[in-house]
Amino acid sequence: MEHHEVIIIGAGLTGIAQLYKLKEAGFDTLVLEAGGDLGGTWYWNRYPGCRFDSESYSYGYSFSKELLEEWDWTEHFSPQPENLRYLNFVADKFDLRAHMRFDSKVERATWNEDNHTWTVRLHDGAEFSCPFLLTAIGILSAAVMPRIEGVERFKGQSFHTYHWPQEPVELAGKKVAVVGTGATGVQLIAEIADKVEQLYVFQRRPNWCAPLHNAPITPEEMAKIKASYDEIFDRCMQTAGGFIHGSDPRKMFDVPEEERYAFWEELYASPGFGIWLGNFRDVLMDERCNEQFSEFMAEKIRARVKDPAVAEKLIPKDHGFGTRRVPMETRYYEAYNRDNVQLIDINDTPIETVTETGIRTSERDFDVDLIVYATGFDAVTGAFDRIDFIGVDDQKLRDKWETGPITHYGIQTHGFPNLIMLTGPQSGSGNTNFGRGVEDIVFWAADLLVYLREHGYTRIENTVEAEERWNEHVRDMYDMLLLSKTKSWFTGYNSNVEGRDTIRYVAYNGGAPRYRKRLAECAAKGYEGFVLA
Ligand code: NAP
Repeated sequence: MEHHEVIIIGAGLTGIAQLYKLKEAGFDTLVLEAGGDLGGTWYWNRYPGCRFDSESYSYGYSFSKELLEEWDWTEHFSPQPENLRYLNFVADKFDLRAHMRFDSKVERATWNEDNHTWTVRLHDGAEFSCPFLLTAIGILSAAVMPRIEGVERFKGQSFHTYHWPQEPVELAGKKVAVVGTGATGVQLIAEIADKVEQLYVFQRRPNWCAPLHNAPITPEEMAKIKASYDEIFDRCMQTAGGFIHGSDPRKMFDVPEEERYAFWEELYASPGFGIWLGNFRDVLMDERCNEQFSEFMAEKIRARVKDPAVAEKLIPKDHGFGTRRVPMETRYYEAYNRDNVQLIDINDTPIETVTETGIRTSERDFDVDLIVYATGFDAVTGAFDRIDFIGVDDQKLRDKWETGPITHYGIQTHGFPNLIMLTGPQSGSGNTNFGRGVEDIVFWAADLLVYLREHGYTRIENTVEAEERWNEHVRDMYDMLLLSKTKSWFTGYNSNVEGRDTIRYVAYNGGAPRYRKRLAECAAKGYEGFVLA
């Protein structure tokens, strides 16, 4: 059986960064990747309109000055093909590809207490062993099809957005149905509305969307960005979400009404997540503030959508602004002003079945050439559930987390020694501008492995008390925010997956600086909460 000191599952943004750090530290590392090539999120999601919602230059890796100097972003919010090119550029530059094995879907990982190793088995039966197993499997990588009768019956082309084909998909002259209006659906719908003959959007719950205001980056701008990388990354280190946008410390009602609305207009006209993460802090915590800002956003939708009845359908009524992930959009609302775009509210006319020729609602048949399911993911824990992790005494991770994940810092869970989760559930790194959060954890994990090597430790496992303490803290951080009262993947809900119908504490909402500080303190105290042997 092939043996390595470290195996990383996943060659996306996280796996690539972790491999870079471990190669630097001299570890013999193998990355196992299910896809045909590297890139993770940016390898799979090829649907039209897919792009960063983070400023490109705040998302890329910060770990190499040379890389920062050599890479030019061409748009403020870079599209998927460029993001994939970037990750390939990084892998080639640092000679990482030789340590990656593609088309290698991990099916099972079994802990061996006798020799402190994991045995990792692939879908094709190949087996590997390693003392340390690191997961870089993403938080939005377990795509989920809707539980709608007849999905397999459709004779035309159909797929989930995550599985958008690599070969070009002909859209011109086509009748297309899109199911789902989350961040993915919103990007897709806006992008294809003027390219297809007819677009039917099947919406269950609308989201509060905000303008992205993307623009090209000129060579002069890129030169300025390169000269200010230190400040950009410093800024990201200070904000809760790891973005250049940090919340405004003023209390909303302390700011005179006129000034408040002027500030909101400015946010609405500015690029990126500022409107969500740079707003008055209490907008996301206090119902009265949230209601007022939601009404401001509702007026924007009413102003942009010509048909008032359609506008009302696009305004969320069951949750306030920012309590679910805010989809960023480019002319999304204007798409509904087009004659070839129709919004179908499936609360009024539920989908009854998918037929051979399209989608049947309680009202009529919609015959189409293509059905796209933008129905999201079994978020955060789904990718873990799809692998049989078998720990001490044959315990399965899936069983341990049946009613929700429990972890120590989102990095480990008791009973699964030497399994290090990068961007695991309840970790601060998964809940941020991903490029930044990823660096927090991969630097920390690399230091940990060096520490274990230097001290001759072959086993690390967190204590039960430590994970109970962390779980309590994770819950406290949810309680602070209005998002804890809203059903979304942030709160672990998914109508298409069994057992995802109550709140699950899958994310860490305490902010990146707090998380980073906790990790640093833990390491400084000799990895407090972990038993090293
Ligand atoms: P999502 O936010 O979970 O949205 C899924 C959509 O499908 C929702 O509108 C949902 O309706 C609908 N849906 C699910 N099951 C359905 C069913 N059985 N019948 C009808 N409608 C159904 O998933 P997503 O849009 O793929 O986004 C997931 C996350 O990916 C985002 O929140 C974001 O973090 C990330 N993302 C990031 C970017 C970026 O950074 N650029 C872009 C895209 C996505 P309900 O709301 O009623 O459940």
